Amino acid sequence: MFVYLDNSSTTKQYDEVTDTMLKYMREDFGNPSSLHKLGLTAEKAVKKARGQVARAIGVGDDEVLFTSCGTEADNTAITGAARAGKRRGKKIITSEIEHPAVLETFKELEEEGFKPVYIGVDKGGFIDTEQLKSEIDDDTVLVSIMHVNNELGTVEPIEDAAAMKGKALFHTDAVQSFGKLKIPTKNVDLISVSGHKIHGPKGMGALAIKKGVNIKPFIVGGGQERNMRSGTENTAGIAGLGAAAEITSANRDKNYAHMDEVRKYLMDGIADEIKDVQINSPQEHYCPSVLNVSFLGTRGEVILHTLEQSDIYVSTGSACSSNKSSGRSHVLKAAGLSDEAIDGAIRFSLSELNTIEEMDYVLVRLKKAVGDFRRLGSFR
Ligand code: PLP
Repeated sequence: MFVYLDNSSTTKQYDEVTDTMLKYMREDFGNPSSLHKLGLTAEKAVKKARGQVARAIGVGDDEVLFTSCGTEADNTAITGAARAGKRRGKKIITSEIEHPAVLETFKELEEEGFKPVYIGVDKGGFIDTEQLKSEIDDDTVLVSIMHVNNELGTVEPIEDAAAMKGKALFHTDAVQSFGKLKIPTKNVDLISVSGHKIHGPKGMGALAIKKGVNIKPFIVGGGQERNMRSGTENTAGIAGLGAAAEITSANRDKNYAHMDEVRKYLMDGIADEIKDVQINSPQEHYCPSVLNVSFLGTRGEVILHTLEQSDIYVSTGSACSSNKSSGRSHVLKAAGLSDEAIDGAIRFSLSELNTIEEMDYVLVRLKKAVGDFRRLGSFR
């Protein structure tokens, strides 16, 4: 049996998405800026996709900007908001558990003279809203807090945090919640999403910029995307993102319920059948696509490769986390996990394509992998 449980890293593209994309590669390959009818067809495809993505996020059509990935959406939002506000203030605030697409951008901005502040989290990965409230002042130009954490699945209290923003712009990285949860939009100025986490294309993202919010463009040139993101539009990618956004949002509630059931089955099975485990994902306010568990006394990496031999694919943390310093997840460290718990952590990340039958198979193989490691160590 093949079981893919690494959907927070990337998802299998829907066939409908691939078919849509092929049409704009094989036949309707025009440049949306061209004046002839091939151009017009491409322009219409971009317009349609903008509507599909806007509805999936919950914003207006004219508030969506297409980007080359979630990382670019984060970079554009954060750099653009900070630079637009630099005369008014220098303070920029984020959390300790953000994706590197956010944390590295904050580091770059620090070199430009901005003053970053990192909000801590509790053991469930929830941001300290009291600390956030006390940090936001008149010098603050941007607050960036992710909606769902990619390693723990924690759903952050975005509406509460955004209500505190004062004069600052508020950005949320909604890459992991897009298509799975309703994205909070109240008081939120900027929202990043990505295609490949919702069975859409890799190398496609979008940034919602609320009407009246002015940020500096990040990529300049020919003035596409209303001057906010130059470069000839990736029509096929955009159409694919639109199709994926429409499919996932039409099935969102159904998919949520299914993932939650499968996740609970896996979590209960692990707790019942395997000793010395620690569930790291929070018990409430979690996204059902992520379950993070530590198998104490083991090494997650070895368990991962053992499971791989049975065609089961999981992750030890974020596939795209840099973790340069010690190799240990900055998210799990910030949540206060012990080194033993971090070293033995596995992230199971689900999509609506996973089934209970798959979890039965995973539980058998997982129990054996953990048991073998504990008996024999990693040198088998
Ligand atoms: N933000 C979060 C929370 C993510 O999980 C990811 C991808 O792992 C990204 C941003 C980056 O998205 P992309 O891979 O489309 O650049």
